Amino acid sequence: MTVKKPMPGDLEPIETASRDEISALQLQRLKWSLQHAYDNVPFHKKAFDDMGVHPSDLKTLADLSKFPFMTKTALRDHYPFGLFAVPRDKIARLHASSGTTGKSIVVGYTTQDIDTWANLVARSIRAAGGRAGDMLHNAYGYGMFTGGLGAHYGAERLGCTVVPMSGGQTEKQVAQILDFQPQIIMVTPSYSLVIAEEFERLGITPDQISLKVGIFGAEPWGEGMRAEIERKLGLDAIDIYGLTEVMGPGVACECIESKDGPVIWEDHFYPEIVNPETGEVVADGEDGELVFTSLSKEAFPVIRYRTRDLTRLLPPTSRSFRRMGKITGRSDDMLIVRGVNVFPSQIEEQILRDKRLSGNYQILLSREGHMDNVEVRCELQREFSGSLSPAEVALISKELQHHIKTIVGISTRITVLGFDSIPRTQTGKARRLIDERPRQI
Ligand code: ADP
Repeated sequence: MTVKKPMPGDLEPIETASRDEISALQLQRLKWSLQHAYDNVPFHKKAFDDMGVHPSDLKTLADLSKFPFMTKTALRDHYPFGLFAVPRDKIARLHASSGTTGKSIVVGYTTQDIDTWANLVARSIRAAGGRAGDMLHNAYGYGMFTGGLGAHYGAERLGCTVVPMSGGQTEKQVAQILDFQPQIIMVTPSYSLVIAEEFERLGITPDQISLKVGIFGAEPWGEGMRAEIERKLGLDAIDIYGLTEVMGPGVACECIESKDGPVIWEDHFYPEIVNPETGEVVADGEDGELVFTSLSKEAFPVIRYRTRDLTRLLPPTSRSFRRMGKITGRSDDMLIVRGVNVFPSQIEEQILRDKRLSGNYQILLSREGHMDNVEVRCELQREFSGSLSPAEVALISKELQHHIKTIVGISTRITVLGFDSIPRTQTGKARRLIDERPRQI
């Protein structure tokens, strides 16, 4: 496709403002956000007080480093609504994401927050080359995930015709793309390749596919994958980043004219990179963990939220905001399987619901074609090993598979082994995870 360079009027003034203007806006909003969190969320007040800091101590942007971090644990401990900064009846919508255990973490949005989110996703789609009047096929999952509705509202806000397809039903996805002829698709990168294979199966070549732009996120993907998607679908593949705790998709998005890493919408989210071990802020360009402070969120302010995503901050190019590099990993054990966040502890919790299974287990991740496969190997307790019929063992695995599917949200293959089949650790730390998926480059 011919890359649509932004025309005057396409961009919001702040996207091309001077760094001084951006910093001034950030400082003003940061002061508001810290005060808002302090005044309305007991968790934040206590965390600030414990560290001996007050919102009025923030005189410059660099002063933010004096304030406490916030982690996913806070969301778990205050489940479901304990971190909301507005009364429940001012919450217009709830979304949820994986917690480290069976319970999800819950976030809320006021009407104003939904409005800001729609504007930022609209800005992201515009950065990706989309314009009012384009048709957008949305294959992100609808429901409690932020992906589906987040993309949907943003696409409507931009003035697109939205096809709210959601995930799954690959044949139907493809039939609908062929019938409706959308220009834009929003989907996880791995699923886009499954869609591409279905086109191939039907003998449809990339030049016969109407899609011109794909906006891909929710899981890590590299330049190799970008090239493959672009080749197979005949489109420009753009990286969008976000996370539920901070808002959802559209915290950052690449620009089609440079494709050089997602531009962080710094007028709403203040980024820092910290050393994951010490918590020290590191300089732009250096690797570390991405930390965000929300600058405008009403319902669910986050102050120095530790995303656990490892990356670095890059200087501005196509916009005045800084960019982020590719996510190179995580500083916790969260896995992303087909776009779904999974913690090994969530699987462990489901295994241990069955008293006949021991706490010795292994999770094996592999890739078949473009999709991740998960096998959970678990072991019978000594007293049950050898005494259960094959039908009873089959039922154990069927039930476990069902629990993991309904509670954690992923399909797995379960192997129930006899007692002492999984190698014991000799060093103290069990090797729970065997990830045989090829690395993204
Ligand atoms: P999403 O619906 O965007 O997946 P979640 O809150 O479920 O939102 O998951 C957020 C996490 O997904 C991020 O912290 C990050 O690890 C991963 N993620 C989201 N977008 C990207 C992206 N473009 N590249 C790499 N990882 C991503």
